[in-house]
Amino acid sequence: MSESDTSRHFLRQWIEKDVADGRTGGKVVTRFPPEPNGYIHIGHAKAVCVDFGMAALFGGECHLRLDDTNPAKESDEYAENIKKDINWLGFQWSGEGDSGEPGFYNASNMFDRMYEIAENLVKAGQAYCCNLTQDEWKVYRGVPEKPGTPSPSRDTTPERNLRIFREMRDGKYADGEWCLRAKIDMASPNIHFRDPVIYRIRHVAHYHLGDKWCIYPMYDFAHPIEDALEGVTHSMCTLEFEVHRPLYDWVVDRLDEMGMLPVRNGVRIRTQQREFARLNITYTVMSKRLLLQMVKDGHVAGWDDPRMPTVCGMRRRGYTPAAIREFCDRVGVSKVESESDPALLEWCVREDLNRTATRRMAVLDPVKVVIDNFEGTREVELQNNPLDETAGTRRVGFSREIWIDRADFREVPEKKFFRMAPGQEVRLRGACIFRCESFVRDADGVVAEIHGTWDESSWGGNAADGRKVKGTIHWVDCATGAKAEVRLYDRLFTEKDPMKDGADNFLKYLNPDSLKVVEAYVEPALARAKPGEHFQFERTGYFVVDEPNNLPDGEPAAADSSRLVFNRTVTLKDSYKPL
Ligand code: ATP
Ligand code: MG
Repeated sequence: MSESDTSRHFLRQWIEKDVADGRTGGKVVTRFPPEPNGYIHIGHAKAVCVDFGMAALFGGECHLRLDDTNPAKESDEYAENIKKDINWLGFQWSGEGDSGEPGFYNASNMFDRMYEIAENLVKAGQAYCCNLTQDEWKVYRGVPEKPGTPSPSRDTTPERNLRIFREMRDGKYADGEWCLRAKIDMASPNIHFRDPVIYRIRHVAHYHLGDKWCIYPMYDFAHPIEDALEGVTHSMCTLEFEVHRPLYDWVVDRLDEMGMLPVRNGVRIRTQQREFARLNITYTVMSKRLLLQMVKDGHVAGWDDPRMPTVCGMRRRGYTPAAIREFCDRVGVSKVESESDPALLEWCVREDLNRTATRRMAVLDPVKVVIDNFEGTREVELQNNPLDETAGTRRVGFSREIWIDRADFREVPEKKFFRMAPGQEVRLRGACIFRCESFVRDADGVVAEIHGTWDESSWGGNAADGRKVKGTIHWVDCATGAKAEVRLYDRLFTEKDPMKDGADNFLKYLNPDSLKVVEAYVEPALARAKPGEHFQFERTGYFVVDEPNNLPDGEPAAADSSRLVFNRTVTLKDSYKPL
């Protein structure tokens, strides 16, 4: 893909111009501001790629800021995992930091300054305390077409408002009894300009600050302050914030008046916000609230269930950071909402794993083959990765009994079926040519054992007399192969848009067949595979060893335990081709 296709997007051009015009004081500073109320998902990964990616491109820094201004649902467990996931995606925050860790900020560390700024607004007559109920407030605010109605508190004195605001802070009032509103413009067609609430009362302990505060700043007030005081130059977010931008600028203007904007190399740094379309992917949901509901109600095994669109889920599924970054690049940055096909992400995963994954043989739906005229044991030598010579080779044991996949056998072959069938020759990958002669059924009529003979002159794979054998199949030696549990994943939802009947009805579109567990046989080298290691099971797909200690019974899934578990990352082929 040429650079101009997706990477010279409007955000990049915007930053380029500011750099050229000297507005950054010599350093581009961006931030990624997750709320620590859940694990990050593929949509956040997109924002991570944009925020960290733009900073890196311009040799600047990207802050990781936990936007922990809403005390109710936040936790350190989430915060730690957000950090882990960003690092895993290949990014590292940098900059000064507000607590000893470079580049790392907590919005809550600014609560003192936010409060002080709010008091300044009150003193300047730019904010007032209002005791309209939420319902009344909505009626007063009105509709964009007609001016709203001023609150009875709108024209009260700074003294009165300072007193009430301090009483709010000191815990004198119940939740919702009072709030602090910025005094802007009740006639503005932009509803967010009609004296927005900037502080509210919430008697809820904060996960870091405990009971220190019972009033908390609203996002629209807190976010521009965080950006401005951290010296952020370019604040990128999703489109729903576009209508909030005038309010963002209003707050920055007030900070400017208060002389609070930082100065870098003689340039006063004025943060600016721009918006891009959020990433949407079909056949899944991405709201943290809904993901949490699926975890809590047990529809998935946890935030890191390999079917989840979370970063930790994708990691356990075997997706690679490079593939996820490539996907985010290919989706591009745009101003227009659109939906992406999960097949594009899978395509990126396949492309990456095809280059890097070690090849192995595994039989997921085993049926036994007995080579009646074979005696003793032999070893075949197979390449670990035909695309990477440095990956070397391995030796795999071969003996009289082997497992093959049931799908590679037909009692009566259809036309052009060149694999195993009575009277037909097939190549056993890397080993020899085998001629199937008969098979045995069990009491239920299911094929239980296949018999035949090998051509000794074909050792290595080709017949000495040069006769052609079209089909080649993979196999696992019964004597030396290992047993493994393999988890086959499919889409979590059956519906392209699981939210089409609203957020309360998405669960009815859960795919009941999104997880299938099979007992498989794998070649001996896989018995020593390590958690997180990627493999291509030949002719089948890409698989990853499950992370340890993730099984429901608490037993480790690691390879050196008796429990070897593979997750299917993605099947080998798909008709999907990116544009
Ligand atoms: P959700 O709506 O999924 O619960 P959120 O927007 O509430 O997510 P935040 O933690 O507030 O989650 O988001 C952190 C950053 O990630 C924000 O800048 C937000 O704009 C961005 N972001 C969230 N979802 C997406 C998405 N689907 N595509 C791109 N960026 C996203
Ligand atoms: Mg949010």
